[in-house]
Amino acid sequence: MADITFQVWGARGSIFAGGADKTEFGGDTTCFSVSGGGGITIVDAGSGLRALGHAMETGEIGPFPEIDLLLTHLHFDHICGLPFFEPIFCQSTILRIWSAGFDRDEAFRETLSRVMSPPIFPAFRHWDSVRLCTTPPGIALPLAMGGTATPFSLNHPDGAFGWRIDMGAKSVTIASDHESGNDEIDRRIAAAAQGTDLLVCDATYTDAEIADRRGWGHSTWQQGAALGAEAGAHHVLMTHHDPHRADDDVNRMERDARAQNAAITFARTGWQHIL
Ligand SMILES: [Zn+2]
Ligand SMILES: [Zn+2]
Repeated sequence: MADITFQVWGARGSIFAGGADKTEFGGDTTCFSVSGGGGITIVDAGSGLRALGHAMETGEIGPFPEIDLLLTHLHFDHICGLPFFEPIFCQSTILRIWSAGFDRDEAFRETLSRVMSPPIFPAFRHWDSVRLCTTPPGIALPLAMGGTATPFSLNHPDGAFGWRIDMGAKSVTIASDHESGNDEIDRRIAAAAQGTDLLVCDATYTDAEIADRRGWGHSTWQQGAALGAEAGAHHVLMTHHDPHRADDDVNRMERDARAQNAAITFARTGWQHIL
């Protein structure tokens, strides 16, 4: 089996956050890629998806005739990159966008296209070349790049789904956006991520901040570290950085986390990990 490369294209949560004090971790919102064996799978379509599409268009990576894009949920920070993803305009690229949050493909299409309609967004005329697909939680779906992706539910307002991607003996599990604290759900997520090579966790807050942010749908890095330990993940990647958080702040959080567990990294745009 060829090497499988995980890459961060956007690690910011809630909204894009630019500025000179946010260059190390980056301002783009959620987007990750998993590639190997000549194929690619993308998780989430935040603003980071634009740069990924551009890298494909310029030949920096790819070509990928078939792309699977797995959405955790439809909050704006997870879909805002979609109309700026250049491969969407390429007729020869087969793009399948997956959601576990709908029973029917048409319901998924109606909801997603409602956002990308005037006057919120200029008429988007390319839906015909995009395949919008739904899949139930707990069922492994086959990916164009080989391997499978299995969605599992997270605790988040309006619902969200994590994804475990398995390729041969290697796996990566993305579990953001998620609010820890419901023992039953947390146990199910740890089970879904059991033994995974890389677990991507929601680390929007710190334990000192969480008290007045309960119900907002996010976790602390300490809760992410606990989830990683329960799942027996080999490496934990903290993501969904609060938009107010400057590089110095995230670096401080990373130092605190690594004092507990050296196999924790805070996601930086461009960070790669070979599984
Ligand atoms: Zn989010
Ligand atoms: Zn969300």
